[in-house]
Amino acid sequence: MTTTRFIFVTGGVVSSLGKGLAAAALGSLLQAHGYKVRLRKLDPYLNVDPGTMSPTQHGEVFVTDDGAETDLDLGHYERFTGVHARQSDNVTTGRIYSNVIAKERRGAYLGATVQVIPHITDAIKEFVLADLTDEDFCLCEIGGTVGDIEGLPFLEAIRQLGNELGKERSMFLHLTLLPYIKTAGELKTKPTQHSVKELLSVGIQPDMLLCRTDRPIPENECRKIGLFCNIPQNRVLAAQDVDTIYRVPINYHEQGFDREVLRYFHLEAKEPNLAKWEEVVRRVMEPEGEVTIAIAGKYTSLLDSYKSLNEALLHGGIANKVRVNLKWIDSEVFEREDVAQYLEGVNGILVPGGFGERGTEGKIKAAQFARENKIPYFGICFGMQLAVIEAARHLGGIPDATSSEFGSSDHAVIGLMTEWLKGDQLERRGKNGDLGGTMRLGGYPCKLQVGTKVHGIYDADEITERHRHRYEVNLTYRDAFEKAGLVFAGLSPDGVLPEIVERVDHPWFIGVQFHPELKSKPFDPHPLFRSFIEAAKKQSLLV
Ligand code: GLN
Repeated sequence: MTTTRFIFVTGGVVSSLGKGLAAAALGSLLQAHGYKVRLRKLDPYLNVDPGTMSPTQHGEVFVTDDGAETDLDLGHYERFTGVHARQSDNVTTGRIYSNVIAKERRGAYLGATVQVIPHITDAIKEFVLADLTDEDFCLCEIGGTVGDIEGLPFLEAIRQLGNELGKERSMFLHLTLLPYIKTAGELKTKPTQHSVKELLSVGIQPDMLLCRTDRPIPENECRKIGLFCNIPQNRVLAAQDVDTIYRVPINYHEQGFDREVLRYFHLEAKEPNLAKWEEVVRRVMEPEGEVTIAIAGKYTSLLDSYKSLNEALLHGGIANKVRVNLKWIDSEVFEREDVAQYLEGVNGILVPGGFGERGTEGKIKAAQFARENKIPYFGICFGMQLAVIEAARHLGGIPDATSSEFGSSDHAVIGLMTEWLKGDQLERRGKNGDLGGTMRLGGYPCKLQVGTKVHGIYDADEITERHRHRYEVNLTYRDAFEKAGLVFAGLSPDGVLPEIVERVDHPWFIGVQFHPELKSKPFDPHPLFRSFIEAAKKQSLLV
């Protein structure tokens, strides 16, 4: 039985308050006090996982080492704490129900009437408590906003857990918004009061309030909130807007957030060492130069759809002391207009991951422009596949080279692999399988060729990176690829799956089949992003 303490994080008033960030930042502060943390997210939507959702709906799908497709908040958790998330850190209503229904079909409920309470709530509680060993704290974020119908079973489950674990091992932290009304010249506390009432109506008295505001909360307002919400005033804290998200841990500490949380649990609060965060903030706020990276993508309408990529590029800037300006371009425009007018003058071009044919010819043009003009090029997953197609078409003597993702073809240089080895386990995927379950997902090892650029960048012989894709570079075209100047600098240990491709005739042209952005941290920028931004910085000095 674990002795982990649980901090349940709920949100009220409006969505997008940044609960994930708040949980992540609190997690990092508790770590700075020497505690071991784990962060979890309970998502009330009905999809079994976010894998089938469009990134423009719900933001990026964050993939864990163990191959789970999870909510993007798990990316925040990892970036702030460095703790690698697992499948057991994210669950949805869809998964809970499908497990309970499967169990019912097996007859495992022995004739009972299966109900939301206790069967669904029991399954949620089991999930919350599972897979923990020596963690001191588990921060458990409930997605959505208090008052949503679909969130009710989760609130009921954590209410019960609060009773079962007792105050010594559980705390309810509620995040709300204090809007500033210009005409009245005041921060308004009423929405917060209502949202706490809403929580009380399901039996949860929050122990601590974190109020998002754009300005400091006057003392008397804090007192008022405490009074109306039945919370000691020292546990009503401000989460004021900040210039960079990486300042949040420092900001929280200045507010005494960590001290109050530890005091609640009767733990001693020493002065934590936040030098790591101070250095990150300094580098973000005081860059010594700047570079501009063009990103030819598809889901450009919602920035969250490339959340980890944005952050990893920023981390590359942190490593090189430069500001990284991002120029997002919907790749479809390259199909109608001249590429040069958009890409001339940029210091690097990145084609990120993506699915489906729309916009791909534009991305291929972007890769061609980068190759021909010797501009640093970083192709991630789809961006690698399309760079391979470009080279095969224009240099490899296969003018109709394509991917089987876009329909059947005689020259699918990117094709569907039906089986591969993971460790000594044979894994398969079917052509006609559910879209939800046919991808190569999670961490896979990759051997780096000695003497290649990536070998130098990683300074390692073998690496593990996270994947999320269906198609692979088809090595039966190896001769054409070699003729086109492509070098397969990284392969799966059995030599079957190409993982990294680079060009010999170019200052920095690298395509990777995996998603390195998922593993980058502000205090430990990913080597590929560090190197890409370094190359862009060099390029910026040339022009
Ligand atoms: N659509 C491509 C595939 O499935 C690339 C996926 C991606 O970029 N994540 O292989």
